[in-house]
Amino acid sequence: MTDPQKRPVLAQLYQLHEQYIRTMDIACGKYCHDCCTTNVTMTTLEGDYILSGLSPENSAEIMPLVRRQLKNPRFIPSLTTNRIAQACRNGEDLADEQAPADPGPCPLLHEGLCRIYPVRPFGCRCMVSSAPCRRTGWAETDPVTLTINTLFLQVIEHVDQDGFSGNLADVLAWVDAKRDPDSPRPPVSGLAPNTPIPALIIPPEHRERVMPIIIAIRALSV
Ligand code: SF4
Ligand code: SF4
Repeated sequence: MTDPQKRPVLAQLYQLHEQYIRTMDIACGKYCHDCCTTNVTMTTLEGDYILSGLSPENSAEIMPLVRRQLKNPRFIPSLTTNRIAQACRNGEDLADEQAPADPGPCPLLHEGLCRIYPVRPFGCRCMVSSAPCRRTGWAETDPVTLTINTLFLQVIEHVDQDGFSGNLADVLAWVDAKRDPDSPRPPVSGLAPNTPIPALIIPPEHRERVMPIIIAIRALSV
């Protein structure tokens, strides 16, 4: 079971990122959901945050949808963000990870809206675009925002360094099985072990813009 004391830290990180996003001019809005696909990934801390933040009725509603998704094609990462940072620092060559090119809709999408919107994972929160993806075919996100998103991904993984990362469906299924004291310990399948931050991935030209956010994160006692 994830340490419940980590949940408020995650909530504060989400809030801090939200404050940054509010300063941006983005095309994202209600019912815009082209980015809601089966390729979303997250940490087990975020899976715990989702399931602990839903009513038993809502959990009972979403878990069958999640388990059904386990039979479908989806992006299953073998490396976490901090593992990639470690490899970059060591000068290791990493093979590109392949995500399904034409993923289906996220199992938690319902009539254009997210069933878990208030507790959605960071992978969904950081997906923003200055132009509607439906028009362009991709998200247009400025390089500084990509750096800031990576910073938050690294910090969230660091906070959950005893946990795992994986596809939304795999993580939720694992966290849900772990919550049931009567069920056997679930096997870790399709999940990559999290690690502490080895080094932050911040290009020198972004340091000045990112530093106030790093100071704010440090103030959270992460
Ligand atoms: S990232 Fe693209 S698809 Fe997703 S909400 Fe924003 S504009 Fe819409
Ligand atoms: S969890 Fe919600 S916001 Fe994230 S991809 Fe699924 S429907 Fe979209």
